[in-house]
Amino acid sequence: MAEEIRFSEIREEVRKLCSAFPGEYWRKCDREHAYPGQFVEALTEAGYLAALIPEDYGGSGLPLAAACAILEEIQHAGCNGAACHAQMYIMGALLRHGNETQKREYLPKIASGELRLQAFGVTEPTSGTDTSSLKTTARREGDCYIVNGQKIWTSRSEHSDLMLLLARTTPRDRVQKRTDGLSVFLVDMRAALKSGMTIKPIRTMMNHSTTEVFFDNVEVPAANLIGEEGKGFRYILSGMNAERILIAAECIGDAKWFIDRATAYARDRVVFGRPIGQNQGIQFPIARAYAHMRAAELMVRRGADLFDAGEKCGEEANIAKMLAADASWEAADMCVQTHGGFGFAEEYDVERKFRETRLYQVAPISTNLILSYLAEHVLGMPRSY
Ligand SMILES: Cc1cc2nc3c(=O)[nH]c(=O)nc-3n(C[C@H](O)[C@H](O)[C@H](O)COP(=O)(O)OP(=O)(O)OC[C@H]3O[C@@H](n4cnc5c(N)ncnc54)[C@H](O)[C@@H]3O)c2cc1C
Repeated sequence: MAEEIRFSEIREEVRKLCSAFPGEYWRKCDREHAYPGQFVEALTEAGYLAALIPEDYGGSGLPLAAACAILEEIQHAGCNGAACHAQMYIMGALLRHGNETQKREYLPKIASGELRLQAFGVTEPTSGTDTSSLKTTARREGDCYIVNGQKIWTSRSEHSDLMLLLARTTPRDRVQKRTDGLSVFLVDMRAALKSGMTIKPIRTMMNHSTTEVFFDNVEVPAANLIGEEGKGFRYILSGMNAERILIAAECIGDAKWFIDRATAYARDRVVFGRPIGQNQGIQFPIARAYAHMRAAELMVRRGADLFDAGEKCGEEANIAKMLAADASWEAADMCVQTHGGFGFAEEYDVERKFRETRLYQVAPISTNLILSYLAEHVLGMPRSY
């Protein structure tokens, strides 16, 4: 199996924590579409969700590469970090662009687990990937902004105290660039739920606690505006490389889980008087998935290293996300095939992980949009949309 020298102590500790949350735990959550609260609490208590928060604000101040190791191990253990991974990258907007008062107020509480910042309100039903066309507005009135509109796919909003919200503060026809005039707010969801915000869960093919969120004249204190009004799109973009690299690390963990399971099953399962793993028709897809996972893993590590060195990493973050998501999906499909009929049985967890890892072909950014980014920004071809 792949070398795991980097952050070996953290990896070992995460593995230990995850061993208390075996397949039965996840199967039950999946069956009931229940939030894995105990798992999230255990991660919070151990400080893993505060890995990227600087020590000055109560976190561990670890590099992104360490956060990657944490998320990779969670997925490799068969658990699912999607219940809380966003806390790791959403807080980056507050950390990099928030003022000192906001940072002192919120980051220590997020680090201790007193407050959860799990909800990220960007996507809307009518604009989709075209973020600059979003329709949710925030209108300044005295000391408040009045928010109206709708978000979709706002994951974990029922299990979060705070939401990072992107809304339009200047109409699109009154800004020079369509990405101008958007602003980021830290919304206290507990207060917003009492003043016009409603949440509607969406049932999905996997257990993901995702929702629609409606804003009807919700008052958000102007003190909760992050950075400057109208520059929010830039703040969101600046966090996206971290998000892509972290999700890519999760995909590597998933791919490792599928490869481990397939390899073990191929060794044990005897058909026609010999282990199925003795047939090259079974061996080769496993070996191919392994090779693709290892190649993607290198790109994830490269992206994390560049990010941690404060260097440009848009190309690497995007490639890492695409290759790792492809590697996990290839491994998922291979694992079902290797298991034959048992790949479809709940008790093997293969079908659950298969459903879970499929998401990363679409979210948080779909493969087509990564290819468009590479074509335009890296290879210099004309913008296609
Ligand atoms: C389970 C789940 C959880 C999510 N969690 C969150 C969250 O917490 N917060 C949040 O803000 N969002 C979240 N999302 C939204 C996610 O980021 C979007 O679904 C994703 O970015 C794709 O947007 P869309 O669904 O609107 O697809 P669309 O933009 O409608 O695109 C549909 C398809 O068309 C393709 N396409 C679109 N435009 C082009 C083009 N120009 N060229 C080529 N192909 C194109 C896309 O690649 C995609 O395959 C979540 C989504 C899901 C399913």
